[in-house]
Amino acid sequence: MKKIDYQKLEKQLKLEKKSCWEIWDGKTKKEAFDFAEGYKKFISESKTESEAVETGIKLAKENGFIDIKEAKLLKAGDKIYTVNRDKSLFLARIGKQGLDKGMKIIMSHIDSPHLDFKINPFYEDENLAFAKTHYYGGIKKYQWPTISLALHGVVYLENGKKINIKIGEQDDEPIFMITDLLPHLDRSIDSGGKAEYHKIKGEELNLLLGSLPVNDKKIKEKVKLAILEYLFNKYGIKEDDLASAEIQVVPSEKARDLGFDRSLISAYGQDDKACAYSSLMSFLDAKVVDQTQICVWTDREEIGSDGNTSTQSLFFESFMLDILKLSQNKGGLEEVYHSYNISQAISADVTVAVDPDYKDVYDLRNACRMGFGLAIEKYTGHGGKYETSEASAQFIYELKKVFNQDKNIVCQFAGGTGGKVDQGGGGTIAKYLANRNIDVVDAGIALFNMHAPLEIASKADIYCAYLGYKAFYQG
Ligand code: MN
Ligand code: MN
Repeated sequence: MKKIDYQKLEKQLKLEKKSCWEIWDGKTKKEAFDFAEGYKKFISESKTESEAVETGIKLAKENGFIDIKEAKLLKAGDKIYTVNRDKSLFLARIGKQGLDKGMKIIMSHIDSPHLDFKINPFYEDENLAFAKTHYYGGIKKYQWPTISLALHGVVYLENGKKINIKIGEQDDEPIFMITDLLPHLDRSIDSGGKAEYHKIKGEELNLLLGSLPVNDKKIKEKVKLAILEYLFNKYGIKEDDLASAEIQVVPSEKARDLGFDRSLISAYGQDDKACAYSSLMSFLDAKVVDQTQICVWTDREEIGSDGNTSTQSLFFESFMLDILKLSQNKGGLEEVYHSYNISQAISADVTVAVDPDYKDVYDLRNACRMGFGLAIEKYTGHGGKYETSEASAQFIYELKKVFNQDKNIVCQFAGGTGGKVDQGGGGTIAKYLANRNIDVVDAGIALFNMHAPLEIASKADIYCAYLGYKAFYQG
């Protein structure tokens, strides 16, 4: 009887997971580190949706993209973009074939969890001025007090003037902060004097704005008035104008290398701007192919993709119709829907990396690892596969075939956000593309600290996402 070489057989049959750092040569590792420099710059200056859109347009224009309003007749290789309400960005590179041959779509989101000013934010208490906030997206509230925060946004004045606000980013600018209770007074007698820390409530996420009063005994809220005086003198803003404003409170920290070896990045808003950046760069670098390539940065994902700038918005169809019209195709929505039927999409969103401190929550056999490459999730959602779409076996097979062409594209396959069944979970925009009958799968970057003020990603995964997305566009 022939003796079987089981070591050889194991190599042949068993799935072996290795990190990009183990697989890549020195040249590729250096490329990953170089790619991270552009990413850090992008994410440091693009903390809100509008700021990301602005940077995205700049990058697109540098690469020869033009506003669809300036486009005449579209032909293969033409590069166009359009924007919806400063919050979502749509780009297309026209393929050699018409939309009836389907499209290659990558969609990511550029909104990140943060705090918004309430409609009537300002008040004074104990001779201090504060702003009330309402959090946006799924945050752990205790993470937001005691860190430096910056204000980003817009205010529309009575006279129609639009004021852009950005305070707390430069070293010589002030920052803002939410206060927290000191540990000494955070022990109730009921708990036997043991430290059972106060659970911070949404209404306690109040931002400290200042403490200098105006000099007039007759005024009741002297500090609040001093703040209003400052805002009026500097910007012309009156308290009433804050109803026609969008002020976001975000961490003031910039993106930085993390670790002795600088292989990781700490930054605010990596969910999902890590995938937004890597997908846009892959899109800008991709060559013209038969199918039209689409890159979308969408908004409102963190609150369920509702609203006119979200993935559920009909603006996507409106963009498709514009492309058809400019391609001198007489078709309408019917053509768009037929195109969807044979289109492929990636929902480029971040997922979770196994954190060694919290191993209990993961199904370790079906979770992603930091630095192990592009994280492909067949489905997300929660217990019983609710609130998610699921990519078909055939579509995953076709993607694998594309990714396998380049040995530097390291993939890790997972599902259910890597958590144990019934542990919880999360959703992405994938299902809204799937509902349009587009083949779609989640493929993105695994993070630590997702939704915290500072999130952690691996430079390897960010570069790997870029390589994978580019192969998808060209494949
Ligand atoms: Mn996300
Ligand atoms: Mn998220």
